[in-house]
Amino acid sequence: MQTEKARSILKNVFGYSSFRPMQEQVIEAVLCQKDCMVLMPTGGGKSICYQIPALTLEGVTIVVSPLIALMKDQVEALRVNGVDAAYLNSSLTEEEQVEVVKKVLDSKVKLLYVSPEKMNSENFYYTLLQVNISLIAIDEAHCISSWGHDFRPDYKRLGYLKKQFKNVPMMALTATADPLTQEDILLQLGLNKPQVFKDSFSRPNIFLEARPAYKRKEVILKFIQERAEESGIIYCLSKKNTEDLARFLSNNGISANYYHAGMDAGRRHAVQDDFINDRIKVVCATIAFGMGIDKSNVRWVIHHNMPKNIEGYYQEIGRCGRDGMPAHALLFYGGQDYKILATFNEESERKVILNARLDRMLHFSESNHCRQKILLNYFGEWSTKDCGECDNCKGTQALFDGTIHVQKALSAVARLQGKLPVGLLAHVMTGQRTPDVVAGKFDQIKTFGAGKDQAIEDWNLMINQMLNLGYLKIEYHNGSILALTPLSNQVLFEGAGVSLHKLHQRIKRAAKIENAQPKLATSTLPKQKSLFERLRQLRRSMAVKMGVPPYILFSDATLAEMVTYKPTNEWEMKEISGVGNKKWEQYGQAFIDEINSFLNEKKGKAKPAYQKTYDLYKKGFSPEVIASQLGVNVITVYSHLATLYQKGSDVDIEQYVMPYELIAIEEVLKGSPGISLQEIYEVTQREIPHHIIRLSMALIDQKN
Ligand code: ADP
Ligand code: ZN
Repeated sequence: MQTEKARSILKNVFGYSSFRPMQEQVIEAVLCQKDCMVLMPTGGGKSICYQIPALTLEGVTIVVSPLIALMKDQVEALRVNGVDAAYLNSSLTEEEQVEVVKKVLDSKVKLLYVSPEKMNSENFYYTLLQVNISLIAIDEAHCISSWGHDFRPDYKRLGYLKKQFKNVPMMALTATADPLTQEDILLQLGLNKPQVFKDSFSRPNIFLEARPAYKRKEVILKFIQERAEESGIIYCLSKKNTEDLARFLSNNGISANYYHAGMDAGRRHAVQDDFINDRIKVVCATIAFGMGIDKSNVRWVIHHNMPKNIEGYYQEIGRCGRDGMPAHALLFYGGQDYKILATFNEESERKVILNARLDRMLHFSESNHCRQKILLNYFGEWSTKDCGECDNCKGTQALFDGTIHVQKALSAVARLQGKLPVGLLAHVMTGQRTPDVVAGKFDQIKTFGAGKDQAIEDWNLMINQMLNLGYLKIEYHNGSILALTPLSNQVLFEGAGVSLHKLHQRIKRAAKIENAQPKLATSTLPKQKSLFERLRQLRRSMAVKMGVPPYILFSDATLAEMVTYKPTNEWEMKEISGVGNKKWEQYGQAFIDEINSFLNEKKGKAKPAYQKTYDLYKKGFSPEVIASQLGVNVITVYSHLATLYQKGSDVDIEQYVMPYELIAIEEVLKGSPGISLQEIYEVTQREIPHHIIRLSMALIDQKN
């Protein structure tokens, strides 16, 4: 019953016809009052997981979120869908806060977003005691762990919630947590027998590409010029970089600005606001930018400099393509970046870990292997499948059978399980008795020196590949020692082979990517750009009137669906993903009008669609073949043939209709003239297919 209610809310409020697989499971668990942890990549649809229970259950759902700008965004998006939502944080005045609390006490709010500071305040605690809480959701839950990469002390105190509100279900959500952070989240929040939901970290809609840092400015300018109307973010290492690059782009006619920690809050806010509202297309920023915004139509992210670890990279590329539409992540690596980043780590107590993570980032950048696969293996989602879509999958690289090498390395690690630090494996393979090797007694094993035939540099490169491919992992919390993975066993015991990339290929590859660029750069947004453009413009002008960001009105994905299906009535419009009841009422007709005027303008100009059918028919093709050539449904082809017949063209449609079918339909038409095709279908017991009815009607019409 409750799940039915949840599904109807999904359709009527949010305009989506089905849950994504994990959403449904999470929602069911919450509706059964269970605690849970949800790990889903950015854009995976985490919000729905608590928003729908909030609307299904009695009472108010509390959402803890660390990002003030994001709260405002989410609340606006909910209000546009007709949901009573509000937020409480330090950006509101005293009076405004009192106003919100009053509404909450009057049960007029279904979803309340709260900052962690507020959540820990005594005042607010007394408010909580007076209301019926349906669910507590902790967003960005990795912030609670000091092991994670974004620790916040205010989050740590949230541990009290489960003790105080034992019977309220609690949900922790995050898009970036390695296995250790995951455990820590459960522990710190004190979740009760939590159900853990892990979605894949894969983001197949993002095209991953890395290039050596060569002629960056020119490459970036060209990249942006090829994407005239698309929004994007360029991450730079220094404030100065952001300013220089923004100026260079502006001088070349691109609407761009910069954003960094050295600017005052007012100016930062203005830039963010311009970006969110599509008034500027490009922001050159230090990493601070984009954290608190939910803009779903960011189409690309460029890393002007290499990030300091894979978590950061993954999170930053996650800011494009949140709507699931094609997006592009371009990374530049090399040059001075590695050195500069390593000096930053120099001062830290965690230097060893930080440098190890930096190394992995470099391996990723330089790798010739599938980049999606490397990311998945990094996050512990052991995978041997190539994505087929990234720059490396699209290019052709020279491989060799590296099985023997991998077997040797893995068996050394197996023998030294729990002892061998990553830096020493190459020494062990090549049989070098360095002081560390001798001290660890690593020279006592049978495989010591088993790889003498290769140089130590080559072994290091091969070991990087083994890490990237998931055959080995580094236990960073444990002295960076090497350990086997589930994939290792396939090589050691199940006879699996491993292809490695030939070594010393880097320079050649860089040249090839440079040449391949125009092909890679073609945007994959819908072809009928003009209608998309018109809808995008309409969205923008309506959003300005409403005072909300355009993507909150409709996402790019929703517009793209409108371009494909061209809905021209309420029924069709509500079938579009992202058009719920409230949005239909408020904006639906305006979009239909725009689509209609587009279609009308097109008419006169274009050849009618049935003409193409006729041309192919005359060449002797069957309706099935014509349909596949034109990329339409075969029923459409029959309908074209019927139209052509009625217009007097020489097409033989009688061949498709059996005499008894024709007689049956003639009977029906005689009895009730003017009856519709669908009604004939019903009257004849749904035994005669639609296209036969259509053809028969044309034949009968002509006869009369
Ligand atoms: P996350 O918080 O995990 O980054 P969001 O909750 O912002 O992701 O969702 C990402 C996008 O996917 C949003 O545009 C959202 O409206 C859309 N979305 C979520 N669930 C569905 C669904 N079941 N069907 C279609 N679109 C969905
Ligand atoms: Zn790939």
